Amino acid sequence: MEKVVIIGSGPAAYTAALYTGRANLAPLVFEGELSKDILPGGQLMTTTEVENFPGFPEGVTGPEMMELFKKQAERFGAKMLPRTVTAVDFSRTPFTVASGHETWQSESVIIATGATAKYLGLESEERFMNRGVSACATCDGALPRFRGKPVVVVGGGDSAMEESLFLTNFASRVHVIHRRDKLRASKIMGDRAMAHEKIIIEWNSVVEEVLGDDASGVTGVRIQDVHSGAVRELEAAGYFSAIGHKPNTELFRGVLDMDEVGYLRVEPGASRTNIEGVFAAGDVADPVYRQAITAAGSGCKAALDCSRWLEAQHG
Ligand code: NAP
Repeated sequence: MEKVVIIGSGPAAYTAALYTGRANLAPLVFEGELSKDILPGGQLMTTTEVENFPGFPEGVTGPEMMELFKKQAERFGAKMLPRTVTAVDFSRTPFTVASGHETWQSESVIIATGATAKYLGLESEERFMNRGVSACATCDGALPRFRGKPVVVVGGGDSAMEESLFLTNFASRVHVIHRRDKLRASKIMGDRAMAHEKIIIEWNSVVEEVLGDDASGVTGVRIQDVHSGAVRELEAAGYFSAIGHKPNTELFRGVLDMDEVGYLRVEPGASRTNIEGVFAAGDVADPVYRQAITAAGSGCKAALDCSRWLEAQHG
């Protein structure tokens, strides 16, 4: 039986693994298998330059940073398992965690499954998925299909700005389609994007449909002005969704307390969920900050809460 199982593999999961590893708890980390829905290492694996994590004055790429986090946790005995958890049973102790037909038992669990990019939900997004439609410019932006061509990015937050700026390296023009007349992005990111000669912000606009055909994939978008109702078509070889994320909590529906969006509810200032011995860390329980540094900090808290809880159980 395991003392601690950690589900996830971003900054929260690896930090929780580092701390529980150093507490001699030999955590077992379910990092997830690469699939349409799962990216081992989490969202930082699709981030080019991380400039806001203290300790890296020259910046660091997301994948490099996750590799360093992982190595540091392994140094203290964390066991990494490239498996996806498909079911949990928290109704009795020890807790059970399953991946396919295999099961593991653990005295405690730390959930750090993060969040996943959202799409608008248009049928045409689905139709051209991976044929010009993507939610990750940093993963797909350098593909030949986008080089020297116009592309669109949907959203007005930091992700939309970051993705747009990255796409300027390849695309001829980047249209940012935003539903309001004001960006949600931080001032520095917004200013950088607005000052870029290749970026055009299409204010007060929503996407009606992604246009394309079977042979070419995406060829454009049809957008509508939310005030005048006027409809226009923009030529584009790529369509990048950057409208935020949803927490990866399907597995815990009906088991753990969540807010209306699906973020896990934890005790204020701590990491305890409604089930004793089950803790949460990182974006899965954070609808507000969602930064690598806050995720890492909450991974530390979860590990300390978990270690202390285990100590109390063993008297
Ligand atoms: P976000 O801040 O929630 O922004 C989402 C954007 O998408 C908003 O502009 C929103 O419009 C728009 N949107 C949402 N649903 C929509 C819909 N159905 N139709 C049209 N537009 C829609 O998400 P994010 O940009 O992914 O950022 C998440 C967090 O990560 C933030 O805290 C951000 O600061 C951080 N982040 C930081 C960096 C960095 O510092 N390098 C990079 C990426 C992300 P409204 O504005 O109208 O709501």
